[in-house]
Amino acid sequence: MSEPIRVVVTGAAGQIAYSLLYIIAKGDVFGPNQPLILHLLDIPVMMDVLQGVVMELADCALPLLHEVIPTADPAVAFKDVFAAFLVGAMPRRQGMERKDLLSANVKIFKEQGEALDNYARKDVKVLVVGNPANTNALVCSKYAPSLPPENFTAMTRLDQNRARAQIAEKAGVPVSCVSNLIIWGNHSSTQVPDASHAKVMKNGTTMSAADAIQNDSWLKQEFVETIQKRGAAVIAARKMSSAMSAANAAADHMRSWFMGTSNDEFVCMGVMSDGSYGAPKNVVYSFPITIKNGKWSIVQGLKIDDFFANMMNLTGQELEEERKEAFSVIQA
Ligand code: NDP
Repeated sequence: MSEPIRVVVTGAAGQIAYSLLYIIAKGDVFGPNQPLILHLLDIPVMMDVLQGVVMELADCALPLLHEVIPTADPAVAFKDVFAAFLVGAMPRRQGMERKDLLSANVKIFKEQGEALDNYARKDVKVLVVGNPANTNALVCSKYAPSLPPENFTAMTRLDQNRARAQIAEKAGVPVSCVSNLIIWGNHSSTQVPDASHAKVMKNGTTMSAADAIQNDSWLKQEFVETIQKRGAAVIAARKMSSAMSAANAAADHMRSWFMGTSNDEFVCMGVMSDGSYGAPKNVVYSFPITIKNGKWSIVQGLKIDDFFANMMNLTGQELEEERKEAFSVIQA
């Protein structure tokens, strides 16, 4: 068995972390032979709650979990970490403007970028889940100048998983028969769920989603809106935001990054944009991605029709506006 790796989860007393910590600690992200030391960061007022989480992790008696370090100190939390799940963020409260939310979170992610820069391993893989995830990841990267920008990613895997599930249901096949859904752009209501390049295995044959479903207008309207509004639909039903599926997606994201993607499969991640597909540069934009030896690459050469190209422009513009607001908050 190899040496333990250190993994930090922020917002560790919150509801997404409550599902996520068990998935990580039992070996479903870094593999069944990789021991772990979990660093759990939360704010000082949450330390009692966090202690309860630590007790529950101990009571799971998980063989891979060598140590758990609960803390409110970023210097301790980010020390020598190999992977960082940045889940903690200021939640949107009633009456709060987008600007207020951005302003609170920019400060948190600036501080965490600085702590990653000072204390983490230089090859640390950072996944931002806390919203606004794409812009938080951008801020974090800018304040960690000694770490390569490609170490910072934002989660759109939950949107991709939701899209996969909707296509599978409509095509009447198990979700394992559906792959290569794309989410372009921001993890917000402007995101672009695109099934044009999806593959569906139906009746023993691999085909496009369009051939499997035979309903182009559903793919461009109802499907797109369902994915864009799925988070709100879960809140309406559960009276709380999605947590199990968000935790599962965070684990999927990091596992793909750590283990790589298979031959013709791609996954979606918010990554530092190089301008591919006309996206603005210098924002964290969700693209289709392949991963080999821990390095991600944007899938190139996919044909984009005008309908999706227009939506991709809008989500790119939103990310540029968020970037402007975020950095004006920092400079203020
Ligand atoms: P959750 O664990 O439910 O959510 C955490 C973050 O994930 C939120 O920003 C939430 O955004 C976001 N998120 C991203 N995708 C999704 C999704 N698909 N569904 C739901 N949420 C999503 O929040 P809790 O309030 O339960 O826990 C947050 C914890 O973070 C608290 O314990 C708090 O103390 C802590 N915290 C820690 C900080 C730190 O470590 N420095 C700083 C601030 C808070 P959205 O709000 O838009 O749903």
